[in-house]
Amino acid sequence: MAVERTLSIVKPDGVRTNVIGEVFKRFESAGLQIVAARMTSLTKAQAQAFYAVHRERPFFDSLTTFMSSGPIVASVLEGEDAINRNRELMGATNPAEAAPGTIRKEYASSVEQNIVHGSDAPETAREEIGFFFSHADLVQGVRT
Ligand code: ADP
Ligand code: MG
Repeated sequence: MAVERTLSIVKPDGVRTNVIGEVFKRFESAGLQIVAARMTSLTKAQAQAFYAVHRERPFFDSLTTFMSSGPIVASVLEGEDAINRNRELMGATNPAEAAPGTIRKEYASSVEQNIVHGSDAPETAREEIGFFFSHADLVQGVRT
């Protein structure tokens, strides 16, 4: 299984409800290494660019307003099969359908305000990491 990197975001609802640490703890407990992390915020235009793939969806305007409503924490997770493993830790998009013990099942309040984002494939992971981090931000050689 290949070592991968994936982009995670603790969304504004996760920052507001004080679960940044809970989310990070789950990544670390699962053996995913946090190799970059940054608190930032998105303008409406930046949120629209980040979620451009969803621009035709009925929830696009509401989603991008939510994503630009407060601070977020972007991070890069590294590990074997990191993309899929992060998706498993997150749980289904709709918390009502998420498996017990997943981040979204435990903390999310709605299908829109669902605490975390995670890249869904190697190509999107590369693009999304580049949206938030420069090459120099990514820690090299910290794996033990
Ligand atoms: P995921 O984040 O699980 O990859 P999607 O890529 O399908 O899910 O959607 C991106 C984000 O858009 C979701 O995390 C959620 O915040 C929002 N979203 C998805 N579907 C809906 C919906 N039906 N109504 C409102 N918001 C939605
Ligand atoms: Mg997605």
